[in-house]
Amino acid sequence: MPDDRTSVMLERLVGLPRVRVLAVDEAPLRVHVETRPDDVERCPECDAPARVKDRDRVPLTDLPCFGRRAVLVWHKRRWRCPAPSCPTGSWTETDPAIASSRLKLTDRAGRWVTFQVGCHGRTVAEVAADLGADWHTVNDAVVNYGVKLVDDPDRIGTVTALGLDETLFVKRGKWRTKQWSTSIVDVGAGQLLDVVQGRDAGPAARWLAARTPAWRAQIRWATLDMSGPYRKVFDMMLPDATQVADPFHLVRLAGEKLDEVRRRVQNETLGHRGWKADPLYRARKLLVIAQERLDETSQGKLTGLLKAGDPKGEVTTAWHAKEAVRELYAHRDPELALEWVDQLSADMRYRDCPPEVRQLGRTMHRWRTQIAAWHEAQVSNGPTETMNALAKRIKRVAFGLRNFVHWRIRVLLYAGKPDWSKLPTVTP
Ligand SMILES: [Zn+2]
Repeated sequence: MPDDRTSVMLERLVGLPRVRVLAVDEAPLRVHVETRPDDVERCPECDAPARVKDRDRVPLTDLPCFGRRAVLVWHKRRWRCPAPSCPTGSWTETDPAIASSRLKLTDRAGRWVTFQVGCHGRTVAEVAADLGADWHTVNDAVVNYGVKLVDDPDRIGTVTALGLDETLFVKRGKWRTKQWSTSIVDVGAGQLLDVVQGRDAGPAARWLAARTPAWRAQIRWATLDMSGPYRKVFDMMLPDATQVADPFHLVRLAGEKLDEVRRRVQNETLGHRGWKADPLYRARKLLVIAQERLDETSQGKLTGLLKAGDPKGEVTTAWHAKEAVRELYAHRDPELALEWVDQLSADMRYRDCPPEVRQLGRTMHRWRTQIAAWHEAQVSNGPTETMNALAKRIKRVAFGLRNFVHWRIRVLLYAGKPDWSKLPTVTP
């Protein structure tokens, strides 16, 4: 047992208010502590002063100390009631300032790992390695502290542009079955509001139903990929909001159609899938690049390859369609937007067009008002492209986590803009 002066110094180093240092082991650094002995607990049943029955040594991963990993070994008292007739058995002391009784990290280490994983988007494995803790110890702490920040009612403010987007969160089992979720996004602020399981209409509609009518009424724009279920959610829950098709999805769809045409024509003309020397195979990367980003040489190369590999000009048509869809978003005049969309989708549905392009034209026709609404939304500070940026952020941080509840907390800590100034005060 250290003498008084040493004790004071050691306590300052350890920095916990009610704690006394019993011993310090080197390599690995283990600091043995107990709570001050003058704090005698009382029996919860009969209020008699309790007696110490025995002690449990509980190792808690702490923050590294002077460049070394550290473990705080808490010699926890087990109390018992001295009254022979009292039904109370024994109980173990708790002190949330040292550690939550459910976690194997000290309280300060628990908050630190939550910040590292939640705010900086570091992986649990990385942070666990820093502390010499195992993956579950760190993940449990992130989940327990994090859920308080994520479910803080102040996290969600007024939203004027709300988006729904499907998000893959894990591929599961022998067949790598995809598990989908729906991201609910404040498209104006670039904030992930929540994620719900599945990509059908039910869960997202229930989430919206759980908000107040006043909150829903402030939403002016409702952004979606061109999928039926999300349209249904908005029709049902936000009937007064203007629906806007996310440009990212339409441009991507146009790119997919071009790719389908290229692969079909390749197969029809040469009877096999793309080989290295085939003109269409060689053109595949140039086709994806935006026209304005092709220099003269690449432009010439693309024209040559199409001439060689695309006898009926079908790939060329699909390429023009893709470029025209992109160009739609360069226009800035909301008054004319619907006219452009109608003109373009009519051109695409013309019978000489490849079937893939006609199909794109039909999709555009079906979603014509939602596509054109983007232009109106743009001029009134409506949705931007943050939805796609957020989706990438989400994917980066936690794709592959199997437990949906944990996944939700992780992505919301990272992309949901929790109030990190509250981290020091939440209790797990
Ligand atoms: Zn008692």
